[in-house]
Amino acid sequence: MAIERETLEADVLIVGAGPGGLACALHLANLIEAHTKAGKSPALSAENIYVLEKARELGAHQLSGAIMDPRGLRELVPDFENSAPLDSPITGDAAYYFTESSSYKMPITPPPLAQHGNFIVSLSRLMKWLGGLVEKKGVNIFTQFAGKELLYDGGATTSGIAGVLTEDKGVDKNGKPKDNFTPGYELRAKVTVLAEGPRGSLTKDLVQRLKLDGLNPQVYGIGIKELWDVPPGRIAAGFAGHTLGWPLSSDKYGGGWIYGMRDSRVSVGMVVALEYANPQFDPHEAFQKFKTHPHVRAILEGGKLVRYGAKTVPYGGWYSMPRNFVSGGLIIGDSASLLNSQRLKGIHTAIKSGMLAAETIYTALCSGDTSAVTLSEYQRRLESSWIREELWPVRNFHQAFHGGLWSGLVKSGIQFVTGGRGVADPMRSGAGYKAYTNSHRDGAAAAQLLIDQSTRFKGDGKLTFDRLTDVYHSGTRHEEDQPCHLVVLDPSICADRCVREYGNPCQYFCPAAVYEMALEKGAPRLKINASNCVHCKTCDIADPYQIINWVPPEGGGGPNYEGM
Ligand SMILES: Cc1cc2nc3c(=O)[nH]c(=O)nc-3n(C[C@H](O)[C@H](O)[C@H](O)COP(=O)(O)OP(=O)(O)OC[C@H]3O[C@@H](n4cnc5c(N)ncnc54)[C@H](O)[C@@H]3O)c2cc1C
Repeated sequence: MAIERETLEADVLIVGAGPGGLACALHLANLIEAHTKAGKSPALSAENIYVLEKARELGAHQLSGAIMDPRGLRELVPDFENSAPLDSPITGDAAYYFTESSSYKMPITPPPLAQHGNFIVSLSRLMKWLGGLVEKKGVNIFTQFAGKELLYDGGATTSGIAGVLTEDKGVDKNGKPKDNFTPGYELRAKVTVLAEGPRGSLTKDLVQRLKLDGLNPQVYGIGIKELWDVPPGRIAAGFAGHTLGWPLSSDKYGGGWIYGMRDSRVSVGMVVALEYANPQFDPHEAFQKFKTHPHVRAILEGGKLVRYGAKTVPYGGWYSMPRNFVSGGLIIGDSASLLNSQRLKGIHTAIKSGMLAAETIYTALCSGDTSAVTLSEYQRRLESSWIREELWPVRNFHQAFHGGLWSGLVKSGIQFVTGGRGVADPMRSGAGYKAYTNSHRDGAAAAQLLIDQSTRFKGDGKLTFDRLTDVYHSGTRHEEDQPCHLVVLDPSICADRCVREYGNPCQYFCPAAVYEMALEKGAPRLKINASNCVHCKTCDIADPYQIINWVPPEGGGGPNYEGM
């Protein structure tokens, strides 16, 4: 069916209202305001900046630890401390090594985990506040709209982007229009900024299509987080604890955190790299076990689970950075691999990259030239900013841990004294899904494994929970009657090869119980519970055959990360 679409034209279209996208919008609006006050030409207006956000409201898809290094925000909003919803300034920090029953406090907090001068924040709340400042400047923010497809200029021989097509609303699960059908908009812009966070669906398409990959493929971790209200006195507001060790074995890269917030609220979570060998490893279960450690239990026991969520983290760093400029487009924040994986911090770098993108775009709009040559200035700005100063010395950090925790600590120690060079520079790495061990099971043994779900983690319902209970606490909601947004390109692989070779890791890595293998007339079949999806994108990243394509569902669907 040919669909008639409305076309809207903007100067700048920003996809994603996270720290990167909103910082870009605000800084550009400030530059335009100064430009207008100075009476300069051409005439520019903040109203010609559009921001798209797929969440039902600002901040609803924001999940982070979060300890914010204020460096970026201070540059963007110099007096932020007067109005930003900061939870607590850091009052203390510690790093621990966990065994199953004990914890060992490190005599000093390793410098990357020292948090003096930082703030514990709810990124969700912070984005609501930042979005308010952006709207006050006249920028148009459209929540509940997802960028579904990029509009490329020049067809197959494209070298750039011309905007975004938003998703059609009111389409049933078979792809047929419903009574409330509303076609997506064609949003055309002189510059489109991809600020989609980790594994953005548009960014993935752009990077693949125009072959923008960095030296190493991007590698990711999955972060699982819960908010708890605990009895008073358990942990000081502003205290940041980080852990290594149990329940993660030393061949896995990751660790836990527990942060004290205001009003006896606690942020507790764990990140683990999606590059482990055992396809039946279950990150959600590992996180639940983490909470049963005596050290963590003592803080949480008797408290109440308030919120749950999961999201991925791009660990690759400088050497995984895609080329982040094309004609008519820029990539910023996590989508551009700007997270410092040594510190697990990307809020400040996302903000700064948004500001650098804004400065580049402002120059381009003034000159009327948004070609790749002009927009390449963004890369130059990144390279001469404090982002590079911070990321360059840790350019090989994550790769150092490919041989496991202990050798990683030695290699990263050598990197520390050699300014990041270490034992090899650049250290190469492969995509994480290639790490799975192929089990080469025969059909019967594999089918047995499939149906035996009795050993899956159930939790005690007080301190630990099964995945469905947790999903309930993520506030996730989707329109049920819509096309499945988890597009499996070849389901026959799931039902046969994956059963035998990997035992369907999707059943284990998904922290929201989206994927289930069922036996239908004796044959394995993949069942997808798409409405549970918390938009973490783990499936798109960790599927061993790379046949799961995460695309945005109807705008407004997904988690509600209030306070996360
Ligand atoms: C578990 C965890 C713990 C972390 N802890 C910390 C920490 O303590 N300190 C720190 O500094 N950093 C931390 N980070 C990293 C930090 O949260 C990110 O680096 C930062 O949020 C990146 O900002 P961004 O704007 O690039 O992307 P995001 O914050 O991911 O924002 C992207 C936005 O784009 C929207 N979006 C995506 N695709 C589309 C689309 N196609 N159409 C419309 N909207 C779209 C999303 O809904 C989202 O709102 C943590 C991350 C995780 C997952």
